[in-house]
Amino acid sequence: MMPIDLAAIASPETPAVDPAPALAIDGVTHAFGARKALDDVSLTVPRGSFTALLGPNGAGKTTLFSLVTRLYDNRSGSIRVLGHDVRREPAAALSRLGVVFQARTLDLDLTVMQNLVYHATLHGIGFRRARARALEVLESVGLADRAKDKVRQLSGGQMRRVEIARALMHGPELLLLDEPTVGLDIGSRAALLAEVRRLIAREGIGVLWATHIIEEIEASDRIVVLHKGRIQAQGSLPDVLAAGHAADISAAFLALTGAAEASGPRGEEG
Ligand code: ADP
Ligand code: MG
Repeated sequence: MMPIDLAAIASPETPAVDPAPALAIDGVTHAFGARKALDDVSLTVPRGSFTALLGPNGAGKTTLFSLVTRLYDNRSGSIRVLGHDVRREPAAALSRLGVVFQARTLDLDLTVMQNLVYHATLHGIGFRRARARALEVLESVGLADRAKDKVRQLSGGQMRRVEIARALMHGPELLLLDEPTVGLDIGSRAALLAEVRRLIAREGIGVLWATHIIEEIEASDRIVVLHKGRIQAQGSLPDVLAAGHAADISAAFLALTGAAEASGPRGEEG
């Protein structure tokens, strides 16, 4: 009989029954005509993590989101949401996913509640349940007292929070946000970030937050640096600093996304 090696069982190398990450992308390439927008991209968003997808304009952030949400079909590699492949099990994958797109998509002339209930009924949630759930998610983004207000009366930051609330209506375990702070002032940006971080702490969902603004990153975040369709670095802040041979994130970002080009024409639009 083999003696049981207790040290091996207790060691961190022992493969635990590891739950699937919120998002696992493996070897995904996507081209528009001859131009490769994503080139062999692999990344992971652990459950309960704030993962910043950091990349300048044109890096491929929105293209990546479009593949995860199946706006585009990924023909190479694999994309799994909570272990469900978006191609082979699209319903299972998409039902666990909430998205806040780059462009605002609320109806300004409807109330906050109407926007949420309308969205939920599209997802097949009944009216009564939708109303109850809407109050819950509004509470969780700090807008419970604005349910009856028209969206038009809200600030830009509050509108974004309504979009987050809407994305949470069906109880997703992965939340994607594509440059959610664009157009917000510094105060609203910080408030939105704090709100999302609280959400992660409370609900344990995984968040992928696309941005080109390094100030949005905190020391405990997971960071994925994307540039010209390629992953330049990925991991904890120290991992990314090491990859960029830099002392701070702004120097690392410049090093990894081509500091040499900083003086050239800016804003490769995406
Ligand atoms: P980001 O969101 O990081 O700014 P995008 O994913 O929008 O970047 O764009 C990545 C690259 O793909 C850019 O070079 C952009 O011009 C190109 N691109 C994006 N969408 C299309 C499209 N529908 N047709 C052709 N090229 C596109
Ligand atoms: Mg974009």
